[in-house]
Amino acid sequence: MPNVSNLMGNSLPTDIIDVLRSAARVASQEPGLASELYLVGGMVRDMLRGEGSGDIDLSVVGDGPGFASALARDLNGNVTKISEFGTAAIAAASLDIDVATARAETYEHPGALPQVSASGITEDMARRDFTINAMAIDLSGGGWGELLDPYGGMADLMMKRIKTLHQDSFADDPTRALRAVRYEARLGFKLQATTVKDIQRDCVHFDAVSPARILADIRYILGESQRVDALTRAEELGILGCISPALRIPRRSLQAIRETPTREPVFHVALIGARLTKAEATTLIDRIEPPADWREVLLAGTKYQEIASVLERSDLRPSEIADLLEGFSPLSLEAQLQLAPATRQKAALRSWLEELRFRKPLLTGNDLLEAGVPQGPIMGRLMDELRRANLDRSVGTRDDELSLVKRRLPMLLAGESGK
Ligand code: ATP
Ligand code: MG
Repeated sequence: MPNVSNLMGNSLPTDIIDVLRSAARVASQEPGLASELYLVGGMVRDMLRGEGSGDIDLSVVGDGPGFASALARDLNGNVTKISEFGTAAIAAASLDIDVATARAETYEHPGALPQVSASGITEDMARRDFTINAMAIDLSGGGWGELLDPYGGMADLMMKRIKTLHQDSFADDPTRALRAVRYEARLGFKLQATTVKDIQRDCVHFDAVSPARILADIRYILGESQRVDALTRAEELGILGCISPALRIPRRSLQAIRETPTREPVFHVALIGARLTKAEATTLIDRIEPPADWREVLLAGTKYQEIASVLERSDLRPSEIADLLEGFSPLSLEAQLQLAPATRQKAALRSWLEELRFRKPLLTGNDLLEAGVPQGPIMGRLMDELRRANLDRSVGTRDDELSLVKRRLPMLLAGESGK
């Protein structure tokens, strides 16, 4: 077993090394909570690749949540989450630390949540997704820096290869297919051919996976800077189709996602929703149960498609553009703008988003009252006429607006009394 303590010392930032040392000290003081302690997951993988990493993942043989509380106290941090699988999260200074009880997992049927039982580190490595993620570094006093690599993760790192530990990995947990394309895209690695076959054979088992778990992995993909590569690959391997036939992402949407790397995830969701039919949008929403803002932009696509051709008309007045676009959230229209061909539709979207939606009458309800307009429907009607006149530029000043009010008020009053 190689010892990588020098590499750790040279490549991990000092605040992380300090946390690892604290964890080792807490483990040695509390052997009942952690008889063994390991650094696992992405930090091991990324350090061995010579890259920085995000979260610290720790695995303890013993009591993960109990150890997490002791470590949080030692670091003046907080335990932010405890799960049924013996895991806990700590926030300390600017670091996020995940602590898991080393565990063995068995799956009663494909896609089911695993039955877990506390175990040693060997079984804990055996339940992991890919060889490159199934390495651990011993942090216990005597063993500090010993690398455990039971599945040849180091060799696969060098070969830039993503490979599962056994052929039933995706049947056990189909969400690993989404993790696979995410790592492929992020690391610039390649899935091993047999792993690709396993995905294609077993991704039908997504049927047994809960919306929440699928949504979580879709979020992770959208959070990656290489999100388009991951989505493209997920589509190519049939993973998206296995999740839902409604989850198809047109090439143009992928390109638009690529063109907007700094936009927030919900904007990219809007780009995915932009060309869905109503049936597809509702099927997809039922499948992944997204939050309200995602739902809204997924459903906006079909509503927009109903009016898109009207926006191509050459005789549209600004107030008519407003009538068509007012009910949409700006974000879903920004997505449509990103996708629109360079036609009148695009110009209409742009003028609404950049200018028309902010144009309001200069007169207020109080001004109208002062001008003798009674409270009630006539007031509403006049405000609306002022709004339209402003949009269409048939008024421009307060005086213009006042004369419109004075001209229209007698007609409206007469109309009302004549009813
Ligand atoms: P990241 O850099 O995205 O945090 P990571 O590899 O640390 O990558 P985590 O989601 O933090 O990923 O998970 C930590 C470790 O837990 C992984 O490296 C892997 O060993 C294991 N793991 C996570 N999800 C699964 C899963 N669905 N199946 C098997 N093992 C998993
Ligand atoms: Mg991690």
